[in-house]
Amino acid sequence: LGNQLSAALRNLNESTIVNEDTINTLLKEIGNALSKSDVSMSLIIQMRKNIKEKVKLDQIAAGLNKRKIIRKVVFEELIRLVDPGVPLWKPVKGKSNVVMFVGLQGAGKTTSVTKLAYYYKKKGWSTAIVCADTFRAGAFDQVRHNAAKGKIQYYGSDTEKDPVVVAKAGVDIFKKEGTEIIIVDTSGRHKQDSELFEEMKQIETAVKPDNVIFVMDSSIGQAAYEQATAFKNSVKVGSIIITKMDGNSKGGGALSGIAATGSPIIFIGTGEHLTDLDLFDPETFVNKLLGNGDIKGMLEKIKEVIPEDSSSLKEIAQGKFTLRSMQQQFQQILQLGPIDKFVQMIPGMSQMPQLQGNEGNLKLKAYINILDSLSDKELDGKKPITQKRILAIAQGAGRHPKEVLELLEQHKMFEKLIGGKVPGGMGNMGNLLSK
Ligand code: GDP
Ligand code: MG
Repeated sequence: LGNQLSAALRNLNESTIVNEDTINTLLKEIGNALSKSDVSMSLIIQMRKNIKEKVKLDQIAAGLNKRKIIRKVVFEELIRLVDPGVPLWKPVKGKSNVVMFVGLQGAGKTTSVTKLAYYYKKKGWSTAIVCADTFRAGAFDQVRHNAAKGKIQYYGSDTEKDPVVVAKAGVDIFKKEGTEIIIVDTSGRHKQDSELFEEMKQIETAVKPDNVIFVMDSSIGQAAYEQATAFKNSVKVGSIIITKMDGNSKGGGALSGIAATGSPIIFIGTGEHLTDLDLFDPETFVNKLLGNGDIKGMLEKIKEVIPEDSSSLKEIAQGKFTLRSMQQQFQQILQLGPIDKFVQMIPGMSQMPQLQGNEGNLKLKAYINILDSLSDKELDGKKPITQKRILAIAQGAGRHPKEVLELLEQHKMFEKLIGGKVPGGMGNMGNLLSK
């Protein structure tokens, strides 16, 4: 999905005229990408409509950058897909907060229950788990085992078969003790069935949760909307946890769960361990969908100082990198301030020892001096740089010839990285830079 969205936005960048057709093509491409990632058709249609309404081409004042506006709107609408704009539920100190977990079997409820209890325990809250899954054999043992690992209090029964009775008894006990966060784990079924939903309703009525968390597997796919709707119709879903985000899925299907419930994602599960629970951040999520990852911060910095129509960026987008581009880039990088932070943001570049810290800044200045001593033809790659020239260039720049060689080596390496010729290198870095 990420690559396709990036590609769609890149095409927008490369088209010379921005008109209705450009937008329609872009929206179609984004729609295709989202659909492949299991985002439901109705969500996609709604999103397209929103974007079209926000981008009224004839109303964009002359002189404003249309591409920039379109990109911004697209990003905003993507964020809206993952963020319904509802405030996140927060437990209140000094009282018992009851949280009920719901979701199908295998979604990751019990694992997430423990993670959440542990998360709050680490923050100094008193927490406890109530096991109201009397359906699955071994469910209570799993809770017992998990709770022991996190040294968390728990309640359950080996004999009582009525989940409502167990839930109520457990919650009452911990309320009496003044436990601040009481988490009720419930059972699921492999399929949505009326018996399960009836059970959830009854438990909800019995324990009166302050928040119901719906747990969804990130790889759920097209079934998400219907499943989330079914749970929402039986209990008052208030928040969502998406699990198994450490796997291959980017969670595209889960977006429908948000649309169906109108509830925000509060956490994502990123592994099987107690601490594999991350606070949800819409921007990070969307960036993952867009395939930007850590590069996002760098892109924003670059955009601040590099004009959109910079010729070097255009070149880089095509996988080319001349010494002239290098000169431009270095000058602009220097404007960014201390180079070490910048270097850390670029995948594969942090290994370059010459370009770190203040030493890096000095080196960069030396390189720029050398590049300034090159002829136009040399800068544009139209003339090879001979041994004799290297000596002359070094003299002109007041640097050692070894440094000139080093710079030329460095340039070759960048050239390869930007051309995507190095496995594990920057790959389509050029594409990202041109966005
Ligand atoms: P429940 O039936 O909804 O209670 O699901 P469980 O909590 O028992 O989880 C089902 C399986 O998914 C278990 O093997 C868990 O270890 C695994 N699991 C849950 N959350 C995650 C996650 O975030 N990442 C990974 N990799 N596995 C998870
Ligand atoms: Mg379970």
